[in-house]
Amino acid sequence: MKKIILLGASGSIGIQSIDVILQHSDKFEIVALSCGRNIIKLKEILTMISIEHVCVQLKEDYLYLKEEYPNIHFYYGDKGILEMLDMDAHIVINAIVGFAGLAPTLKIIQTKKVLALANKESLVVGGELVKKALQEHDGKMYPIDSEHSAIFQALQGNNKADILKLVVTASGGSFRNKTREELKGVSVEDALNHPNWSMGNRITIDSATMMNKGFEVIEAHYLFDIAFDNIEVLMNTESVIHSMIHYVDHSFMAQLGTADMRLPIQYALSYPNRLPLKMSDILDLAKIGTLHFKEVSYERYPLLKLAYEVGKRKGNSGAVINAADEVCVELFIRGEITFLDIEVIIQRCVEEMPYIEHPSYSDLYQSDIRTREYVYQLVNKGA
Ligand code: MG
Repeated sequence: MKKIILLGASGSIGIQSIDVILQHSDKFEIVALSCGRNIIKLKEILTMISIEHVCVQLKEDYLYLKEEYPNIHFYYGDKGILEMLDMDAHIVINAIVGFAGLAPTLKIIQTKKVLALANKESLVVGGELVKKALQEHDGKMYPIDSEHSAIFQALQGNNKADILKLVVTASGGSFRNKTREELKGVSVEDALNHPNWSMGNRITIDSATMMNKGFEVIEAHYLFDIAFDNIEVLMNTESVIHSMIHYVDHSFMAQLGTADMRLPIQYALSYPNRLPLKMSDILDLAKIGTLHFKEVSYERYPLLKLAYEVGKRKGNSGAVINAADEVCVELFIRGEITFLDIEVIIQRCVEEMPYIEHPSYSDLYQSDIRTREYVYQLVNKGA
């Protein structure tokens, strides 16, 4: 029986993780979970599984829940999550969204638990710190991101040294058929309508700008230790090929499947084994008939190009680009900036925020806060 701590339980990955774990209740058991402010969802979860340790974001929710559920040990806030991570467990699923996932990632590694990572920001923002922690503590990190799980699966039975290139596939997001001119007037509703995947709001907008793909390139760099020049992005319109490895003998190993995150979640938990998985939709290539591929244009997706630059530059640049993106997506969803403003503002933040070559965690934390403030400044000035 593997004990699992689930961080970010009320989000899209969190809910699907619970589904996977309940399908294998003879092998996995959730011993603790965290959720943000969605207490309605939390209560729903508590009817599905019995659990002894729960962390919520706000103190007021903590005080009220403590009364309502006297048998559960509650924690609150960012510190509460770190405190909860001291308990005994085999695997931690980190499905927290955004910068807030970095400190838990480091703590998971320090406390010698297997890290099943869905929080890509941990690597975008703090890739160097995570790498160092993994080396120091002989840590284990498995990806929960469809592209990286595909690469991880295509790597089995092969040597990392024989990789020529990683080919990360991209759907192109909700506006892939629009020109830049046509992007000027797009609405929030249209942006949230992804052609292949049903995901959380932020990642859906990030798919439309390809900021998400850029973050995934950085993520791939840290997960598999491959130079940025050897990571390619390729459009696969159908999202059937989840990513590939191009080996030195020019063999391409790909992983295919439907757009269902439960597979990457389960593989991170069951690795190196595979387990049966109940799915409503199984890949039917005869029905799909044709797969389409296209080169990605940096002119069409400038944030993808920027992510490569940020990745190579290292330092606090990842913290800056991530914070700028988090705030811009929020402002776009609230209707306060346009879709194309997202790119302009993120670009300016990366160019204009002070660079720190070897940032500590607290430098990254400060960069995150200062960048957020800078975005609001730019928006208020009408930049
Ligand atoms: Mg992905």
